[in-house]
Amino acid sequence: MKSSICLAPISHLKELNNLFIELTEKNCNLRCKHCYINFPLKKNVKDFITVDSVKKALNETINHNITCIYLTGAEPMTHPDFNSILRLCLKRSNVCIFTNASCINEKKARFLKRVEEESSFEIIFKLSIDHYNEIKSDDIRGRGTYRQTLHAVKCLVKYGFNPILCITNYYKEDPQILKEEFKKVCSKIGFETNDDNFTINEYFDKNSNDDIIDTEWDSLDCEYGRILTSKGIYSCPFLANDHRGRSGSSFIDFSDKTLLESPFCRTCIKNKKSMFSIDFSKFT
Ligand code: SF4
Ligand code: SF4
Repeated sequence: MKSSICLAPISHLKELNNLFIELTEKNCNLRCKHCYINFPLKKNVKDFITVDSVKKALNETINHNITCIYLTGAEPMTHPDFNSILRLCLKRSNVCIFTNASCINEKKARFLKRVEEESSFEIIFKLSIDHYNEIKSDDIRGRGTYRQTLHAVKCLVKYGFNPILCITNYYKEDPQILKEEFKKVCSKIGFETNDDNFTINEYFDKNSNDDIIDTEWDSLDCEYGRILTSKGIYSCPFLANDHRGRSGSSFIDFSDKTLLESPFCRTCIKNKKSMFSIDFSKFT
């Protein structure tokens, strides 16, 4: 876990259990204040990963024990072949969709349930919403996003899904209070939750110059996963397409080490636990 010759610690891939797939690097209909993506001025950039690249990665990782495939973006549901990619991935393992929920309505939730029923695996949703107070959440994510996400939650719950709400603790509030208040909001819309329905993460502040890096953590995404993007393989979603997280060009031959030198790594290490992957041990 630690390096004696470099100032920054090194993490080693222990097992490839989590396969992240970035469906698009720059397509998202929102512009959240805390987003770490540097968006181009032009909207609708054609940077979608190809279905063939996904097929190739699934073949190359066949001998790894993949417990979950995570579809990420920017906003993965903007991919024109989203449904085909989802079906392909569901042939292999559980699939977790990281989404801002703007593409989910009742019709889509019904359709996604049908897709899940065709498979022996599960679809898990991680939906972004940043505060239990509508004004505070919309201030970060944009007007109307709070209601949109809660509507998506309602639709998913109606069709038997059990979504996870992903909260970036932008205002640095007490996480326990955030959870309790969110539970009340969910209860009002008929969604009975427990602690596992919420993920509260540290806020990555692009402008912070905090350079203190700890060397202790419970688990990091780069220890159990890699992300496929249209440019190759990288250590984790934070470092997708960033030369500091480059692991290789394919899953045939990729690096199992990451130098934890980026400001993103400081946020992860402060968080102590993985920021993206699901801890399935809690559910067994
Ligand atoms: S929804 Fe996600 S990708 Fe889109 S702007 Fe917000 S944080 Fe960034
Ligand atoms: S950002 Fe986090 S998960 Fe990614 S390499 Fe750094 S410590 Fe690992």
